[in-house]
Amino acid sequence: MSGQSFNNRGFSRRSFLVRAGLVTAGIYLSGCIRKLGGGKGSYAHITGDLRGPNAKAGHMLRDKVVFPEPVNIQTVKTLIIGGGISGLSAARWLKKNGENDFKLIELEDHTGGNAYFGTNSVSSYPLGAHYITIINNEDQQLIDFLHETQVITHFDDHGLPFYNEYYLCFDPEERLLINGHWQNGLVPDFGVPDKDRQQIERFFKLTAQYQNTKGSDGKYAFNIPIDESSADDTYRKLDKISFTDFLKAEGFDSPYLLWYLDYSCKDDYGRHAKDVSAWAGIHYFSSRRGKAANADPNSAITWPEGNGWLMKQLRNMVSGHLMTSHMMYSLDIKGDKVNVKVMDLKKGTTSLITADNVIVASPQFVNQKTLAGLHRPGVDYTKMNYSPWLIANISVNKLPSPEKGMVLCWDNVAYGQPSVGYVNANQQDLKVIEEKKVLTYYLPLCDHEPRLSRLAAYTRPYEQWLDIIVPELEQMHPEITPHIERIDLWVWGHGMISPAVDYVWGETRKNAKQPVNNRVFFAHTDLSGISLFEEAFHQGLNAAQKVIDKNHGA
Ligand SMILES: Cc1cc2nc3c(=O)[nH]c(=O)nc-3n(C[C@H](O)[C@H](O)[C@H](O)COP(=O)(O)OP(=O)(O)OC[C@H]3O[C@@H](n4cnc5c(N)ncnc54)[C@H](O)[C@@H]3O)c2cc1C
Repeated sequence: MSGQSFNNRGFSRRSFLVRAGLVTAGIYLSGCIRKLGGGKGSYAHITGDLRGPNAKAGHMLRDKVVFPEPVNIQTVKTLIIGGGISGLSAARWLKKNGENDFKLIELEDHTGGNAYFGTNSVSSYPLGAHYITIINNEDQQLIDFLHETQVITHFDDHGLPFYNEYYLCFDPEERLLINGHWQNGLVPDFGVPDKDRQQIERFFKLTAQYQNTKGSDGKYAFNIPIDESSADDTYRKLDKISFTDFLKAEGFDSPYLLWYLDYSCKDDYGRHAKDVSAWAGIHYFSSRRGKAANADPNSAITWPEGNGWLMKQLRNMVSGHLMTSHMMYSLDIKGDKVNVKVMDLKKGTTSLITADNVIVASPQFVNQKTLAGLHRPGVDYTKMNYSPWLIANISVNKLPSPEKGMVLCWDNVAYGQPSVGYVNANQQDLKVIEEKKVLTYYLPLCDHEPRLSRLAAYTRPYEQWLDIIVPELEQMHPEITPHIERIDLWVWGHGMISPAVDYVWGETRKNAKQPVNNRVFFAHTDLSGISLFEEAFHQGLNAAQKVIDKNHGA
């Protein structure tokens, strides 16, 4: 999950902290939470939930229900729709710039979007986004936020950031089960023939070159945020072919390398290498150049609740402005005002909110329904594909031991399996006394076209998910089944935008980013084409800056 990283740090971050004495004491499936037992044979002892984002709300928009006419009218200068990272980041930026007359509405009863999380008696755990990596040093706005929240504690004499030792992923970080052995790191190595190793090396040489290449406009060929990447056609034309075709043309055919690259695409984009553009495939490896004073480049930064921790920091900065369980169902522009109709999902009542500016931070597959009356020239919603995901939080009372090779890591992946492995949500625990753990397992549903996979996912019962998950876990940890206490499932039907061929640098994304009438502004990671915390953070900030500039007559 942290991708290419060769973890050779000479000390254990957890033991360092302990020694230093620093340890202190979507869519609801079937509209509700289902408490279930595994039901079948050796799974009968496993209980858990099958959940997802608010389906009831989604169906109201999809089925075009007739909403009651609003009786209540409110006014606000700026209204933000959607409380994922993009919307919260927009809210933070407005507040930081003294724009206090704003509200944010979120249809769920909590903010977070797909950076939301859960908690049980053993640990908090991610339900989607689970980490960031060391940030590119020129990304001053994000560095400032991470400094504000003490993810970056200070800077050294050369200006390099010190990342908080509690949040840098504790060692050991990553392992791969390959040829019957757990090896250190995710790039296939154990039992890999020399000719495959040579190809792996050649691939990394190529991506290292791209990593440091700038276009004629002085911008890096591949950057984060994506819109800071070079506009040179030499690189952008890589968006017109699939990653698989690019690899073929470059003579890469090692099954080990191709497995690793396919895993990487599944991991970051929820799609196979054949279904994403070569530009996106290379971006995964060549867009990060961050340097830290106290960690290796590419080091992961994580929390038990994953990026839910970052989300809470943003949320706390703007808490007085949030209206959860409120869903926008229509928007139109009348003169110099934007009229937004909103349903209070708890009370079932509707209201009209009149705003000077609206930042729409909900995804385009929703906007297609809610903004039906808005003219957005050149926006072809059919070109936007979203990858569905299944996340399983697996509570175990112990992991069977001993294992061959590397011990349990934060990120644990098995070669050749359908999932992209699991992260140990307890990795950042300083007191490692308990054998109980929560393993957050990630399954991209990418073997069919997204719409089909989504439909299948919505109708698959709990027990059938166990038939996929438990055998894979058994393969990783023989005889684990009796130690599984719960498996809590979460289906993201529209988990993340997929950077299919011609999406990132194609017309639809370019057009969908355009504000309407200088009153309706857009912010969501589907407008980046690549779904990352950094992209969401900048999406929100940029949209808020447009509002601020407008309010100040710039
Ligand atoms: C399985 C998975 C794993 C991931 N892992 C990582 C990771 O490890 N690291 C990383 O950086 N990124 C990861 N990501 C991506 C990351 O989560 C996203 O990039 C980011 O959180 C998206 O934020 P957003 O605000 O753009 O969108 P969203 O999270 O989609 O937020 C949109 C919000 O709008 C709300 N909304 C929608 N319609 C309406 C409406 N009509 N009215 C009111 N509110 C509405 C939604 O409920 C939602 O809260 C992952 C994503 C998934 C799915």
